[in-house]
Amino acid sequence: MLNFQKILDFLIPRRCAGCGGDNEVFCRACRAASFQKSAGCILCGFRNNTGEFCPDCKRKFAPPLKSVLWAGRYDGELKKAIWELKYGKRRELARPLAEMLAEKFLNMRVLQNAVPAGNFLIIPIPLHFKRQYERGFNQAELLAREFSKITCITMRNDILEKTKETPAQVKIENKELRLKNLEGAFKVSLGTPVTKWPSIILIDDVATTGATLMHAAEALKNAGAKEIIGLVIAHG
Ligand SMILES: [Zn+2]
Ligand SMILES: [Zn+2]
Repeated sequence: MLNFQKILDFLIPRRCAGCGGDNEVFCRACRAASFQKSAGCILCGFRNNTGEFCPDCKRKFAPPLKSVLWAGRYDGELKKAIWELKYGKRRELARPLAEMLAEKFLNMRVLQNAVPAGNFLIIPIPLHFKRQYERGFNQAELLAREFSKITCITMRNDILEKTKETPAQVKIENKELRLKNLEGAFKVSLGTPVTKWPSIILIDDVATTGATLMHAAEALKNAGAKEIIGLVIAHG
């Protein structure tokens, strides 16, 4: 039988999005170099083993999420790989990047005692439909789908919706404006009660200040969600 992937590989050799090496879309060496074992409070950088917000930030900001985990820093090879996925439209990068998410998540879950997969629900951070139409896909959804296949946790893309078209967060310099930009940007569809799951995992590609995750989590909290964990490829 013809192996279609092999023919494709022959016609279009796969190059690592990080180092340009042969045969792997994001090679083991680049992944290992980008992966961060440690975790911490995304708001102030205070290190811990869980990715939870530190007591200080919890008091000051009352974040609607329990924790935010990231697989690596947003620079070097990892930044290149995310860029290629989003703008180079190399969808095949979702798999190796989701493997990094899974490694991070499984590491942390071990630390917090094993919890059955059925307790979790995966929700990708949605794009506004106009932006998704322009790009042709939602990179967070591609990542969430692959992450779901690896972990056997259910993924739903019909619960959270982005109803407001907002300029890209990275294009807004001011931190306060970034927060304002996203006010009321997410809506939860009331068809499925989010109270069904003890824990929701919100997935996105990059988190800088965590503002997007916060606003999405806020909408889910208002709809009755219990615990929410943010999981992103890169922080920076
Ligand atoms: Zn590489
Ligand atoms: Zn903190």
